[in-house]
Amino acid sequence: MEKSILEEWDKNNIVAKSINANKGAELFRFVEGPPTANGSPGVHHVYARVVKDLFLRYKTMRGYYVPRVSGWDCHGLPVEISVEKELEFQDKAGIETYGVEQFNNVCRSSVFSHIDEWAEMTKRVGFFIDLTTPYTTMDTRYIESVWWSLKLLWERDLVYEGHYVVPYCPRCGTALSTHEVAQGYKTINEDAAFVKFPLSDQRETYFLAWTTTPWTLLSNVALAVNPDIPYIKVKVRNQFLIFAKELLETVLRDEPHFKVVAEFQGKELNGMRYRSLFSNAQLSVVLADFISTTEGTGIVHIAPAFGEDDFNVAKAHGLPLVQLVRPNGRFDDDVALVGGLFFTEANAVITEDLAARALLFKSEMHTHSYPFCWRCETPLMYYARKTWFIKMSSLRDVLTRNNELVQWHPQVLKHGRFGNFIENARDWALSRERYWGTPLPIWKCPNNHVTFVGSIDELKQRTDSAAVLSDVHKPYIDSVVFPCDECPETMHRIPDVIDCWYDSGCAPFASLHYPFEHSDDCKMPVDFIAEGVDQTRGWFYSLHAIASAVFGSNAYNNVISLGHIVDEHGRKMSKSKGNTVDPWQILNSEGADSLRWYLFSTGNPGTPKKFYEEAIVESQRKTISTLWNVLSFFTTYAEIDQYDAEWDLPDKQRNIIDRWLLSRLNGLVSEVVTHMERYDYYGATVVIDSFIEELSNWFVRTSRRRFWKNERDLDKVSAYVSLFETLSTLSKLIAPFTPFISEHLYKTLSRYAQGAKESVHLESYPDSNANRSIPETEQEMDYTKRIVEAGRAARSSAHIKTRQPLKEMICIGPELKNDELKAIVKNELNLKTIDFKTNEESLIEYHVGLNFAKIGPKYKGLVPKIKQELSSLAPREVLEKLDNDIKIEVAGKTINLSKEDLTISKKTKPGLIKSEDRGLSVFLNTELNVELRRELLVREIVRRIQVMRKELDLAYTARIRVGYRCSAEFSEAIQAFESYVKDETLSISLVEGEVTDAQLSKEWMIEGNPISISLAE
Ligand SMILES: [Zn+2]
Ligand SMILES: [Zn+2]
Repeated sequence: MEKSILEEWDKNNIVAKSINANKGAELFRFVEGPPTANGSPGVHHVYARVVKDLFLRYKTMRGYYVPRVSGWDCHGLPVEISVEKELEFQDKAGIETYGVEQFNNVCRSSVFSHIDEWAEMTKRVGFFIDLTTPYTTMDTRYIESVWWSLKLLWERDLVYEGHYVVPYCPRCGTALSTHEVAQGYKTINEDAAFVKFPLSDQRETYFLAWTTTPWTLLSNVALAVNPDIPYIKVKVRNQFLIFAKELLETVLRDEPHFKVVAEFQGKELNGMRYRSLFSNAQLSVVLADFISTTEGTGIVHIAPAFGEDDFNVAKAHGLPLVQLVRPNGRFDDDVALVGGLFFTEANAVITEDLAARALLFKSEMHTHSYPFCWRCETPLMYYARKTWFIKMSSLRDVLTRNNELVQWHPQVLKHGRFGNFIENARDWALSRERYWGTPLPIWKCPNNHVTFVGSIDELKQRTDSAAVLSDVHKPYIDSVVFPCDECPETMHRIPDVIDCWYDSGCAPFASLHYPFEHSDDCKMPVDFIAEGVDQTRGWFYSLHAIASAVFGSNAYNNVISLGHIVDEHGRKMSKSKGNTVDPWQILNSEGADSLRWYLFSTGNPGTPKKFYEEAIVESQRKTISTLWNVLSFFTTYAEIDQYDAEWDLPDKQRNIIDRWLLSRLNGLVSEVVTHMERYDYYGATVVIDSFIEELSNWFVRTSRRRFWKNERDLDKVSAYVSLFETLSTLSKLIAPFTPFISEHLYKTLSRYAQGAKESVHLESYPDSNANRSIPETEQEMDYTKRIVEAGRAARSSAHIKTRQPLKEMICIGPELKNDELKAIVKNELNLKTIDFKTNEESLIEYHVGLNFAKIGPKYKGLVPKIKQELSSLAPREVLEKLDNDIKIEVAGKTINLSKEDLTISKKTKPGLIKSEDRGLSVFLNTELNVELRRELLVREIVRRIQVMRKELDLAYTARIRVGYRCSAEFSEAIQAFESYVKDETLSISLVEGEVTDAQLSKEWMIEGNPISISLAE
């Protein structure tokens, strides 16, 4: 079914028609978060795509103009790394040898290696988006907009170059931004070393420092202490150790014997000399405020090349930067002990060496969180590099203020994960020492004059006109030089490219080539975006940061952040665990609507989503199949009765159950709209689900007979027009959620009507009509349903099957005013009558007994007599007098019995079965007579005849002849209900014996008696 609908959409160009539907109307702006198409789409991509589609369709049907263009993220580490793997390069040197031009060509052609798969999946899940004219971040126009924004930031003094310690991936050979780092933390266990630094002038005395990165000890240039905390000198195992007093117990927790011999303030240690661990150099203690006593020893070893704090301390004290590690993470070859080793491999070697020289006090397992490269999973090192930064730290207030304008879904992210992050925003390390990316538009002369280029035209003007570039990527752009404005020198480009997160963060304006083109369509902030929760510190942040810096505004008004997809047991899906689900498998077996409905209807966006086939099958059975069945119910009868949408009936003349249905429908429309306006799709699915359930299990169930009957009276018309309207409204209401079945529904219904559109997706969203809301009727219907529920419970506790008609049921509660509702109850419960009473007095019996524990001791031997006397009184009489004592005469004595002396119990009168539901009681009369027994028998016979009709595959309207052979009881029953049997089975004759030319004869057992039935058309 879905495949043929897709073909029809294709043939009639419905996607484009939907996108262009409201051109000229109010703009609703969406930006597609560009995925990279160099890998296959997974379930989480499907999830994000259908959530986007849901709101874009909804807003279109609500009358907005909603342009939808796909986009692709083409640059950056993800692409480079996969190409490096393919070409089997070990590091950046491999790229240089291979040639940057050729490397970038491979990158460019790999970018779209899976684009067909993406397009196919996008179409298959029903995502209405323009795939024909996507924006790509490698397009020259896109790059030009990015350059424009950077020049703007430079002019606003928001860009600077700094020599700083930055998080650095030695494999990728480049610095990373703090929000990239934030995505790659892992908890690890490693040895932390307590290292002894010998004092120069005191024998067997050591400063004790603590480090989790022993590989940095080779670059040690100083020790730092906090001037304002107390330190102690402790004698342990014939040596003296100096460290912070507060840490005494943690540092020496394994030492049975030690003695504190001196105490001093940190500032007293200033300038004290110690001997380098790896040479004879004499180094000094310096003071630093940042040192805490939360862990370690309160003495910090300083290696300025590998830590931000260290770097600042060294700068303040004029200490040298000892850089023994190359940018590829390996020690210089001529370094003793660890030459050529990768930095993390050096830890063990150095620890062992210190231990051998008795310079290691102890080493302990330490659990902490450490950053890894988000792309290649190499442990990062903190490394001093020259890098270009955007001054995000100066925009913290703007970021926070703009965040207040954003509606986050789920809301908790606003002041949680996201809010915390922007409050502490760090400067954005923008440059990457890489190849395949937007080139940094910065030129510099030997005198350090700097020029930012903000457009292609500007570049052309600066260079001679011959150097017109068709491709601004590396290496071509690197050869573009021009004279400095301020001195006679030549300017050369800074060879770096920019962080690809900056690229994608420019999407709201760069996708439109703003400000060079489309300045009218570039509405900022955009109205809506949606992606996975992992983008909170990724794309959501870069969009917000760039919009705040460039436009001074928030980037988006509404953002949906989707939780992780997990497996059946709640574990995160990953290829290595082998618990991923291929979206195609589900799409092929269950269809896109089932997948979509499942994703929308199983919880709010924030909650992790369990994803496995059985759950999706269940979800499709519950909602989509139910709706499907209601539709085929309608069409089956509509064919027979030649229904036409011209049929009409004023609401007032309609049956109460139809008026109820329309009232519910209008309530549903208004609730769905309310939820959707709040971006609460889950809330919308909950109310839709319960409506479809009621439509099927209440409306259709109780109205079957109204469609089935022969005469076309007002009641039948009422049923048809009401169900038609309901289904037709539903087809539009659910169109954004389940675009396929709604299209099928719409197309099927349009067979009966004039003037239908080409597709339900070109329709307007339904409006609710308050005039049709009848709260009293809805309340009364709820009450009716409760009576039926209680009656069913009574029947089942009495073990009486529904086909057995019963005489009556009495409800204790307000009377149903409407006869049609009473009829529904009688039909549903197969009752002859239903009565209402205000109390249950006449339906129960009381039993009054003696409380022997009370009166036994008081009256002893008289008790049997009292009992006898009491039983002669009517229980009701006793109860009525109970407010005062009851006097009885026994053996000439007057005995006063109080409430406490008696036990009172009540039970339902014989033949009645009671059931209760939230304060409502019903009493079912289960006594049977001959008449009721006969009715059961004929109902059983009718059912067998209907089974036989089905077996012969007769048309619904086919008339038949029936013959029967059975016991006297059965034939008496048939004769008594002859016209009933004929009507129900569409029989023109019903005779004892075999029917002539029987097409089918069968023996049946009913209530333990044999009966043979024969049948012919
Ligand atoms: Zn890396
Ligand atoms: Zn210059």
